Amino acid sequence: MNRKILVIPGDGIGPEILDHVVRLIEVVASKEGHTFELADALAGGVAIDAEGTPLPAQTLAKAKAADAVLLGAVGGPKWDHLPVDQKPERGLLGLRSGLELFANLRPAILFSQLADASSLKSEIVAGLDILIVRELTGGIYFGEPRGVEVIANERRGFNTYVYTEHEIRRIARAAFDLARKRNRRLCSVDKANVLEVTQLWRDVVNEVAEEYSDVELTHQLVDNAAMQLVRAPKQFDVIVTGNLFGDILSDVAAMLTGSLGMLPSASLDAHGKGMYEPVHGTAPDIAGQDLANPLATILSVAMMMRYTFDLPEVAARIEAAVEAVLDQGLRTRDILPEGSTGLQQVGTAAMTQAVIDAYGG
Ligand code: NAD
Repeated sequence: MNRKILVIPGDGIGPEILDHVVRLIEVVASKEGHTFELADALAGGVAIDAEGTPLPAQTLAKAKAADAVLLGAVGGPKWDHLPVDQKPERGLLGLRSGLELFANLRPAILFSQLADASSLKSEIVAGLDILIVRELTGGIYFGEPRGVEVIANERRGFNTYVYTEHEIRRIARAAFDLARKRNRRLCSVDKANVLEVTQLWRDVVNEVAEEYSDVELTHQLVDNAAMQLVRAPKQFDVIVTGNLFGDILSDVAAMLTGSLGMLPSASLDAHGKGMYEPVHGTAPDIAGQDLANPLATILSVAMMMRYTFDLPEVAARIEAAVEAVLDQGLRTRDILPEGSTGLQQVGTAAMTQAVIDAYGG
């Protein structure tokens, strides 16, 4: 297999994590007999400094030419004063829309070694493995008209919650396909009792379900889904929902695992191309100190192997290597409980090297 990966390190802890994680990709390639051509590009604050824009045209062109993009994180206090449309995060939005990445995949997996990190009782979350599929390019975040206007001396703010049938159909298909690769259970989340747009969502998901008789489909209203996620999260396998509800529920699910430094994500287009990135940001408070946890980015690489390169066995070996280093008692500071014994604190470089060693590199 000869595939192109574009690496966009970004700002803060992004570059220091990716410096090391790129070595893991090289080891994976040589051990598995694949060629991954690696290129890099600027986006975010570094791109503003170098080129005056958070997403240089050359970066988007390179991303379009690649099979997959691996992103660190963007943003930081240095660029906080800029207007919203010029901030580093605009680079991220530009990549998502430029690459037509409509399906956002956020797994919430609780590694048994970290069960104590969750705010919930360990029996409720032990062994948790759920996948939230969020529609990423439509819904109320993009609907028109939008704005704030003044009517009769009073300000009035408004947004439009809109989904077309084809947008619902393609995210539903993506979610059913993912459920097929897992435990064949899909829960669609909406607010069909109040919002017509999500009644359409429910109708279209039911229509798509006819093509997937091997997947069990259920529906939950978003308020109930939020309760169920913290009451009994293990009832879920795959959850599919729109942009707004998905934004909120994926953060709830993420926190069930308790460790921001452990959470990967993927955003996919209709052809399997994807952008892979950790859920966390640029962590300016610890940048440049070899304190950042690289495991979220490493697990994002595993997702890339599974979803874009269709190499599930390679993905499983990377995930097993992460489990192995946790079993060895190695922890970056963010996942090291205070006063714990028998665990060893390591930095970004040593943690990545330990995963490479466990992989057999
Ligand atoms: P953050 O995720 O950067 O940090 C939150 C807390 O978690 C901090 O205490 C940080 O030290 C810690 N943390 C985060 N990742 C870690 C890791 N890998 N290892 C160890 N500790 C880690 O969120 P924030 O502080 O709200 O945002 C900082 C900057 O990042 C902002 O400019 C924000 O806009 C940006 N941001 C970018 C993305 C992205 O690029 N996808 C996502 C979120 C935030």
